[in-house]
Amino acid sequence: MTAETALVVATYSRRMRLLLPDGRRVDARIKGKRIQPVCGDRVEAEPIADEPDWLITSVRERRNQLTRPNLRGKVEVLAANIDRLLVMAAPAPAPDWSIVDRYLCAAELIDASAAIVFNKIDLPANECVDDVLEDYTRIGYLTVRCSAKTGRNIDAVAELLRDGISIIVGQSGVGKSSLINGLLQDDRQRVAAISDKRGEGRHTTVNSAMLELPDGGAVIDSPGVRDYAPALQPREVVVGYREIATAGLDCRFANCRHLREPGCAVKGAVEKGAISTRRYDSYRHLLALTSKLTDAQY
Ligand code: GDP
Ligand code: ZN
Repeated sequence: MTAETALVVATYSRRMRLLLPDGRRVDARIKGKRIQPVCGDRVEAEPIADEPDWLITSVRERRNQLTRPNLRGKVEVLAANIDRLLVMAAPAPAPDWSIVDRYLCAAELIDASAAIVFNKIDLPANECVDDVLEDYTRIGYLTVRCSAKTGRNIDAVAELLRDGISIIVGQSGVGKSSLINGLLQDDRQRVAAISDKRGEGRHTTVNSAMLELPDGGAVIDSPGVRDYAPALQPREVVVGYREIATAGLDCRFANCRHLREPGCAVKGAVEKGAISTRRYDSYRHLLALTSKLTDAQY
């Protein structure tokens, strides 16, 4: 019996379900208290003699991780090795595009690709939605319009998610759960309870699970991921708006925040219409929020 590199596909507090290279799924526990694998992690694991369980002995270095501060102010890792953030908006609840921008910022920072899904196209939308989506396309984000309710264009979303590991984020009520159910078709995966090692109880609460999509790709889902709101630092905002970061390379000052500095290439680009005013305003707003700027600075 030898050690294997496995993928963590579900977590239940300190117990995990692993996908082994040969396609088998096994339950596992963790060696020691120092390591805490999450969904998406690659781990080294070995079988335990005379037991069905495997033992996770180490976690491979992560390409990236999705984090949030928990109630005790510590950083909690929600998922690891994410290839893509799918950011959702809809006509209802009324889209708050600055929230979409925040998620896009978070995706840039963890070097995940990002795409925007505008759901509920069976409902009437405000006409400025077209312009906003067009702006996102112009700066290189893929956008798809769909309806999780009618199934319209769900195949295009499935296509977007075909490779790698994705997470789906967006305001509450935009249709994330409905979309995931639609993508899974009738194949809603039940994550079986992991039995306790002594058999005296069952850990039925899934912290997070990786759902394999019928057309390829996987989505990591958990209440934490669904409620995820990125905590950003001012310097992260400056690099997270991709078109602003690119234009900012030509500013007179390397540490330009693109507010009132002289020789600011970003402001020039906004005036010429090369950067959307809405995105620039969203940037300034988020920068002010994260750095608590005074009115004079802002
Ligand atoms: P979540 O909070 O983002 O997970 O959103 P839900 O999936 O729970 O959906 C919120 C509400 O929007 C529910 O009442 C859904 O039935 C509804 N909904 C989801 N997708 C669509 C859609 O494409 N069209 C319409 N009209 N309603 C939808
Ligand atoms: Zn500048």
